Amino acid sequence: MLIDLDVQVGSRCKIQNNALLYHGAVLGDEVFIGPGVCLTNDRYPRAAAPDGSLKADADWVVSGVSVERGAAIGAHAVVVGGVRIGAWSMVGSGAVATRDVPAHAVVAGNPARRIEWACRCGHPLDAAFICATCGAKHMLVDAAVVVLV
Ligand SMILES: [Zn+2]
Repeated sequence: MLIDLDVQVGSRCKIQNNALLYHGAVLGDEVFIGPGVCLTNDRYPRAAAPDGSLKADADWVVSGVSVERGAAIGAHAVVVGGVRIGAWSMVGSGAVATRDVPAHAVVAGNPARRIEWACRCGHPLDAAFICATCGAKHMLVDAAVVVLV
């Protein structure tokens, strides 16, 4: 496991073995990071400048991943630098998240695409945005799901 410099980890997170959390990642509270997850931080990676000189720290921009409260990232998923993983969303195992993931979305594949919506309890929502497991009701607002209290 690697938790690089300037990585922020919230309270009650669970980070599994072999995860790679590179410089600039910000994890909210209650975030799950599965085994082998990789959170990258360079949108335009190059080992050297066009003239062949090695790049220094000042020669690139850190684009850390942000993972909002309660989100879960499955085993061996990759999140590209600068991507925001919305609250209570779920990134499937082996997915490659190249774009922001809305709150409560479940995404899978490469590039990751939304396949369903998830409740805070982790289980899927039905077509009416109700969780069959815990009964919580939700509503779609601005292309993201929110919980109705
Ligand atoms: Zn639920």
